[in-house]
Amino acid sequence: GVSEETSGRSEYNLRSPICCIMGHVDTGKTKLLDCIRGTNVQQGEAGGITQQIGATYFPAENIRQRTKELKADANLKVPGLLVIDTPGHESFTNLRSRGSGLCDIAILVVDIMHGLERQTIESLNLLKMRNTNFVIALNKVDRLYGWKACHNASIVKAMKEQSRDVQFEFRTRLTQVVTEFKEQGINTELYYKNKNMGKDTFSIVPTSAISGEGIPDLLLLLVQWTAKTMAARLAYSNEVQCTVLEVKVVEGHGTTIDVILVNGELHEGDQIVVCGMQGPIVTSIRALLTPDPMKELRVKGSYEHHKKIKAAQGIKINAQGLEHAIAGTSLYVMGPDDDAEDIKEAVMEDMRSVMGRVNKCGEGVYVQASTLGSLEALLDFLKTPEVSIPVSGIGIGNVHKQDVMKASVMLEKKKEYATILAFDVRVAQDARELADEVGVEIFAADIIYHLFDQFKVYIDNLKEEKKKEVAEEAVFPCKLKILPNCVFNKKDPIVIGVEVLEGIAKVGTPICVQQSLVDIGQIASIQNNFKPVDSAKKGQKVSIKIIGSNTEEQQKMFGRHFQMEDDLVSKISRRSIDILKADFRKDLSIEDWNLVVKLKTLFNIQ
Ligand code: GDP
Repeated sequence: GVSEETSGRSEYNLRSPICCIMGHVDTGKTKLLDCIRGTNVQQGEAGGITQQIGATYFPAENIRQRTKELKADANLKVPGLLVIDTPGHESFTNLRSRGSGLCDIAILVVDIMHGLERQTIESLNLLKMRNTNFVIALNKVDRLYGWKACHNASIVKAMKEQSRDVQFEFRTRLTQVVTEFKEQGINTELYYKNKNMGKDTFSIVPTSAISGEGIPDLLLLLVQWTAKTMAARLAYSNEVQCTVLEVKVVEGHGTTIDVILVNGELHEGDQIVVCGMQGPIVTSIRALLTPDPMKELRVKGSYEHHKKIKAAQGIKINAQGLEHAIAGTSLYVMGPDDDAEDIKEAVMEDMRSVMGRVNKCGEGVYVQASTLGSLEALLDFLKTPEVSIPVSGIGIGNVHKQDVMKASVMLEKKKEYATILAFDVRVAQDARELADEVGVEIFAADIIYHLFDQFKVYIDNLKEEKKKEVAEEAVFPCKLKILPNCVFNKKDPIVIGVEVLEGIAKVGTPICVQQSLVDIGQIASIQNNFKPVDSAKKGQKVSIKIIGSNTEEQQKMFGRHFQMEDDLVSKISRRSIDILKADFRKDLSIEDWNLVVKLKTLFNIQ
């Protein structure tokens, strides 16, 4: 039948804490979720676990059963635990609720064999920024050499079963991880030894997502700790607090939104206000849906309808006009005494704060992300000094033709910024085609770093290409002294031994006589100790061949048009200087640039 109250409040008037899983790729986040969901928990023990929209709900009774051997307090104080299904930082950054993080607590997964990795640190920074508590699952303990599996046992019990070698390796690796956390300014301790839990020392729970050791410990720690330290935050309230997880088109239901109801109660018919791309969306709830519990987990398309639902719970909402709703923002319920304008204002607040970070002068890449939260995370990343990529436009949701059009504006201004960085979204086929046609680059990835890496390779290639294009016109500065007894050929071609007095002598450089400004041709080749080279540096003695590029130059002859005492210099121009400045700035030293200045005076270049 229709359940009216799926997950009520406990007698302590606390709601269920909401938990998400973060950590580096391949540390076992997905596997750990599967494991705690009970895919390898014995039949019967999985009882009561409900698959929700975007989350899995564990009633306290289920957790109590699974943690029996830990002799948990019979009363867990919270009604259960709601675990968000999508692992990774997206699920954390996406989930905001009125400015603060939606998750009450996070599981930070670390691979015991690898220690802290790049995304572990990124996750840590996010957690610090949002001031969110977390426990560390030190996962894959079963990979310690010689590990004896103790399926779903508590970690203390499992550890007692291990040989001394395994215990030794465990302690060594644990110490290493604790040290690595310390380097990040975080104190950690094995959870059962942690006396300062929740104050300034974070707990480590060793786990295996394959054989289940430590999973009971992890579950119990999550519920006990949240109940103990977050009573105020978890107090059940009638004021609706609700976050949009995802905007989805569902057959037979049109565009729906998946939400996490953090607090309060939603009813069919409630008037709601949601943040939209084109402004606030005011609509009313047509249906409150949860997956049909009678169906296999994850079978799509079959939903149970509810008249009302209480927090905390993952719900699908069907209502009109949700097409432009933005995932990652708060949903508000319009009460009878509420001022509609105030609520609309509040709803758009999240969006405005993100819009404020776009480069006003309009030069930069176009950024597209799945949700407001992921967009925000990406913008934060692009802004860091090491990355420093300007953004001129933003969008939320999959990449469509109109996004490519917007990005193509940059083709005129700055070609390398005619780029879309698409984070955790799909790119429509016609958008891809249009991009190819007009010359907009699209980079798509689910991990922020990968986007950056792709973009960086692209920019570096562009720079290299540009260098090649203008290389012929780029003239490196040099000043050469003709060496006595080294005139091998007087004319057409001139072959002489020189010492590089200043700058860089490069093949292709046009050369003229410093004293008379007579052009004698271009350096066609350079030999150093009979070996051909592309260039010669200050102080090197090399032999160079100079070929005239027109008949006049070809007439020029050593002994007639220039003498032993004459120095030879690069012939530069306004344009060659501009090219050097634009594309070869880093290839020249300060001394080389000083020579450019001297030559500029010599040739009277303005
Ligand atoms: P995610 O990228 O963090 O979601 O990582 P996955 O859950 O996809 O796991 C990555 C790989 O590690 C998979 O091949 C898993 O089977 C494996 N794995 C995950 N947890 C464990 C564990 O506790 N022990 C061992 N031996 N392998 C694990």
